[in-house]
Amino acid sequence: MPLHHDGSMTDHRHRWTAVSAHQVSEGLVVYQRCACGQWRITSTSPYPEVELIIPG
Ligand SMILES: [Zn+2]
Repeated sequence: MPLHHDGSMTDHRHRWTAVSAHQVSEGLVVYQRCACGQWRITSTSPYPEVELIIPG
């Protein structure tokens, strides 16, 4: 007889909430948490590509 696992919390769409952010040399590291207890870490570059405009 197969066992049926309760997957009520395993297959839902995570809703990420930013908990904290830390500036590191590579950019900004953001810690996000879902209501189910799952964590994820994302990072963004602090230096967006800026076009240098030199008048004259
Ligand atoms: Zn979740």
